Amino acid sequence: MPQNILHREVVIVGSGPAGLTAAIYAARADMSPLVIEGPQPGGQLTITTDVENYPGFAEGIQGPELMDQFRRQAARFGTEFLTAWIDRVDLSERPFKLFTSEHEIRAETLIIASGASAKWLGIPGEAPAPHGLGGLGVSACATCDGFFFKGKRIVVVGGGDTAMEEATFLTRYASRVTVIHRRDSLRASKIMQDKAMKNEKIDFVWNTEVKEILGSPETGVTGIRIYNNQTGEESVFECEGVFVAIGHEPNTKMFRDWLEMDEIGYIKTAGRSMATNMPGVFACGDAQDSFYRQAITAAGTGCMAAIDAERFLDNLPVPAPTGEAVTIEGERVTEDQQSIIMPDGEVISNVPEAESAPAGD
Ligand code: NDP
Repeated sequence: MPQNILHREVVIVGSGPAGLTAAIYAARADMSPLVIEGPQPGGQLTITTDVENYPGFAEGIQGPELMDQFRRQAARFGTEFLTAWIDRVDLSERPFKLFTSEHEIRAETLIIASGASAKWLGIPGEAPAPHGLGGLGVSACATCDGFFFKGKRIVVVGGGDTAMEEATFLTRYASRVTVIHRRDSLRASKIMQDKAMKNEKIDFVWNTEVKEILGSPETGVTGIRIYNNQTGEESVFECEGVFVAIGHEPNTKMFRDWLEMDEIGYIKTAGRSMATNMPGVFACGDAQDSFYRQAITAAGTGCMAAIDAERFLDNLPVPAPTGEAVTIEGERVTEDQQSIIMPDGEVISNVPEAESAPAGD
């Protein structure tokens, strides 16, 4: 049973580029945001090494250091941080409620920046160094790490659009890219398949599962142990890089009962805003973007979500000493909430049509 109740104007779930950018903007707008950091504070960039495509760092920057800068900038303007795992949420009314083992967190506006996680194969050698070869030749992001594989032989695992895109992108650097897929046909769209198949640097190995990534901290990746599920044959395939491209999973499960999402779980936002279907709840970064998935785009949408939250709060009626509530446009909501008095004196009903309709209509 949570013991501590925290009540804030803006609560941000997630502390990657989207969440921390939202925090910087919300803090500078005097909204005293609370950022809830989950099991991977700083998000996906904290498990990468050099980040060379984030503008403003001409010489590149290490992922963890970049996120440390984000965090310090957010803290400088008064962002509060709480490391906690959210067990349950209740978005049925404002303030929205988030429950952790120790806290009930009440949020007047909620910004969801919980990110997405690359799916992994779960095989030996895949874990981040020092436990495996992650970061030493194993990656799940060609845009982030492709540059480090100039002239090398690379394997891409998967048969969807991500795998085709990663394989095609990696041919800019690699001497050869081999797509290893567990079936004999691709899931990827025809156009992406055609592009990859026409590329002379890409070849395909079908009906094949990767069982282990081979190498050592000294050598990096040297190969993979593969299994042909049609012939039962096992062999070693030599390569210097392995890109796992079997999909991403947005970290949005806890919001599934409340918010509109696509079939994979990416939260839907309206038009050019970061507004979800629930007024006062905004989503940004990889939790709502399955397409760009870059740190800079996540940061951009984090900024948008904070501005949206600020405007949402600004436009809410503010209680007046008379018992009425006054909106930023000067409309007055009567104490009994039944009527709105417009600035020109016109009185309109504040009762939803269904409730005000006479019975039997
Ligand atoms: P998908 O789920 O579409 O494809 C995942 C692929 O990985 C499948 O081929 C699947 O095999 C394989 N796979 C899954 N789990 C395993 C495993 N444990 N071992 C081996 N192979 C595995 O994910 P994507 O990320 O490719 O695409 C997600 C969505 O994003 C799609 O809607 C896609 O169209 C979209 N997208 C669009 C892009 C674009 O238009 N530029 C770029 C990237 C993605 P199997 O086929 O046997 O199930």
